[in-house]
Amino acid sequence: MQVFKFGGASVNSVERIKNVAAILQQNSAEKILVVISAMGKTTNALEKVATAFSNNKQEEALQLFELVKQQHLTTAKYLLVHNYLACVAQLSDFFTEVEWLLHDKPVQEYDYYYDQVVCCGELLSTAIVSHYLNEVGLVNKWLDVRDIFRTDDNFRDAGIDWNMTAEKVKQLVLPAFNEAGIVLTQGFIGATDENESTTLGREGSDYSAAIFANLLAANSLTIWKDVAAVMNADPKQFADAQPIQELNYDEVIEMAYYGAQVIHPKTIKPLQNKSIPLQVKCFLDPALKGTIIHNQLLRQLPPIIVLKEKQVLLHLHTQDFSFIGEEPLSQLYQMLGSLKIKPNLLQTGAVSLALCLDDREDKIEKLALAAASLFEVQVEKGLTLLTIRHYQEALLQQLTQGYKQVMRQQTPEVVQVLMEKLH
Ligand code: ASP
Ligand code: MG
Repeated sequence: MQVFKFGGASVNSVERIKNVAAILQQNSAEKILVVISAMGKTTNALEKVATAFSNNKQEEALQLFELVKQQHLTTAKYLLVHNYLACVAQLSDFFTEVEWLLHDKPVQEYDYYYDQVVCCGELLSTAIVSHYLNEVGLVNKWLDVRDIFRTDDNFRDAGIDWNMTAEKVKQLVLPAFNEAGIVLTQGFIGATDENESTTLGREGSDYSAAIFANLLAANSLTIWKDVAAVMNADPKQFADAQPIQELNYDEVIEMAYYGAQVIHPKTIKPLQNKSIPLQVKCFLDPALKGTIIHNQLLRQLPPIIVLKEKQVLLHLHTQDFSFIGEEPLSQLYQMLGSLKIKPNLLQTGAVSLALCLDDREDKIEKLALAAASLFEVQVEKGLTLLTIRHYQEALLQQLTQGYKQVMRQQTPEVVQVLMEKLH
């Protein structure tokens, strides 16, 4: 069995959906679990609906949602013949689910409404694709992943209940393969044990696909993207970025964690844990080799460059000159844990410590406030974190030009520089 994941760009038009069908046709010899994201920019559009609703702008929320509805109905109309009416009936159920909610008054927190509204994007896209595949003879079974992925109620960043989810995969997914060679479902979303919809964090459908691959002990996971392969740098930032044909889990998890947009950073662990290879392939040209990511020791990799913008440096100094490494550090870690903050870099001294974090304003504020009980706190914003794996000195020189270096960490393999643009 294989798992395929198609992102939003691969289903953002009638032609692209037909292309997905062609790819599945070429691979129809094996059973495939297919995970699909919301079409194109649907998730962004639905975020706006949730925001308007939470701000008590109900009319605006309904209007914005109407646009999303029309887009999906139009796609269904151009794509489907025999299954058009059945598809519209299914879409209407999802529309109703959201519209009911939008007719209420917001009384709960934003993150809750976000998940109830935004989850609709993946349900709509997968319903349309499923009807189309069936229409062209690619018999498939559509599943609502909210019946399968059990999560906690940490809305917008829900955690998977692996035991319950494994059970549901056995109960619902495996039998579905007795009915059809393709089982099609959604990425990015799940549900709590009270049947409230949840989401796993933006771009989370890579992670969903990896969870399925793990629980189904798949032979491989293939993520279909609009790029030829994983590159050693973002081609939008570096014109001479080059494709890499082979990578290992360590390289990719580090690249992704430090900001490379290739794959969601949570994707690697479920695959690594069962030694399942990850292929990154181009849906625009499936004949291209793409990139294979697995458990190999690799030598002679090119430098891998990642830039992460919007970084904050928190300077902490103990108030009474206590050593940082004793009680204060463990208390700081507790604060980070309870706020679910993952530091990108950390540098300690005798009585002070510097912490580089993503600038999530809400979280930084809470952390600064909590830390102020133990430390003098200073916050420095607007920084960029440069990570170069397998670096050479000349490249480092070149990439730090025009910047002031604020903090730097280095091993023989990896250099990381937190820096500020000079004006
Ligand atoms: N549709 C979601 C997003 O745009 C999840 C995903 O595409 O992975 O973030
Ligand atoms: Mg995506």
